[in-house]
Amino acid sequence: METSKRLFEEALTLFPGGVHSPVRSKVKPYPFYVERAEGAKLYTVDGLELLDYCMAYGALILGHRNPRIHQFIRDQLEKGWIYGTPTRLEVELAKRIMRHFKSIEKIRFVNSGCEATMLAVRVARAYTGRDVIVKFDGCYHGANDVLLASKHLKPQGVLDCILNKTLIARYNDYSDVEFLFRKYGNNIACVMVEPIAANMGLVLPSEDFLKGLRELCDSYGSLLIFDEVVTGFRVGLDGAQGLYCIRPDITILGKIIGGGFPIGAVGGRRDVMSLISPEGNVPNAGTFNAHPISMAAGLATISVLEEGKPYETANRAAKSIADEIRDESHRLNVNIQVTNITSMFHIFFTEKPVKNYEEALKSNTMLYERFHEELLKMGVFIPPSQFEVCFTSSSHDEEIVSLSVDKMKKVLRSLK
Ligand SMILES: *Cc1c(COP(=O)(O)O)cnc(C)c1O
Repeated sequence: METSKRLFEEALTLFPGGVHSPVRSKVKPYPFYVERAEGAKLYTVDGLELLDYCMAYGALILGHRNPRIHQFIRDQLEKGWIYGTPTRLEVELAKRIMRHFKSIEKIRFVNSGCEATMLAVRVARAYTGRDVIVKFDGCYHGANDVLLASKHLKPQGVLDCILNKTLIARYNDYSDVEFLFRKYGNNIACVMVEPIAANMGLVLPSEDFLKGLRELCDSYGSLLIFDEVVTGFRVGLDGAQGLYCIRPDITILGKIIGGGFPIGAVGGRRDVMSLISPEGNVPNAGTFNAHPISMAAGLATISVLEEGKPYETANRAAKSIADEIRDESHRLNVNIQVTNITSMFHIFFTEKPVKNYEEALKSNTMLYERFHEELLKMGVFIPPSQFEVCFTSSSHDEEIVSLSVDKMKKVLRSLK
């Protein structure tokens, strides 16, 4: 890993922590630098080949450098790549998203999930004329002031008067949210939730929990916001809201809808979305909003996903890995919890099933990190943090899966 080591040493002098997003620095002893990628594989500057279960933290579902997406992007590049004007592509991508997400009647494209959640809270406050928001301990919505409130860590540089407006509830705990509503309900603008939590490890919602949120929001006149940045077009064409048959007022999309290019989106009820500038007075603008290349890559990605087959392959891959690892852990009698839904899977190094962040925090993060490190040495890249999720793609075929399972089992045995 000589070249990566050298690059990272230099990077440490150039960037805070040597990186541009904190989790990347967690790869020990130093991050590997990638030269190129293809399908399920990353190729590093040090000449290593890695099986990728990170998939750009969920932004890719058709594998790296998918030839059909590649062609579509190339065709667009031929025509120029940014104009500062509307394009046909944004109309087509919006219609394509709305074909599947029935709750979205109007949409605004921005450049990241972080921007999208920030805008959504602003809209919810404008619509309701209220200022308090509810979020869940362990859910992540991007690093913007209004959503950084945490029970565990005080973010520096964020004003208390902003953090104080955010109430934090326990995930999967309806009564905790109900308690907050009874106390503050008439001042709650919105509830922001990851309908499937994918930033505290992978934590599935109980259906009653999500239904309960819908009912509470309805009875108090608050807006329900689903952050589907991860789940949108991953758990199915209509996201987690389709899976659980719940209609949020606002949906946040990102990651997959940009096909691997920067994107975020806020979509939702027409009366709510109409408050956004220039139709209304809720500010939002962006030089790169609805960037033609992101639009093209997203459109191509959704078109390929609509064929169905990519989901089959990606889902089968995640399920077989999860099943095999779970079985092996029972055989070995090691205490891990393997969760899986569609093309996501996750391993908590803890004794009991995890329903919320408090329980996730009981995990043995050192053991997870050793698992990650040993796997990396064997050529398998899973996220370097116990609280990030593993993703599969349509490139994770049976050969890659069985190779990966063998290595994961071997590492699990060695950790015992
Ligand atoms: C990644 C993520 C975001 C932030 O998206 P960015 O494009 O990284 O700003 C927001 N919400 C969830 C659930 C995410 O996983």
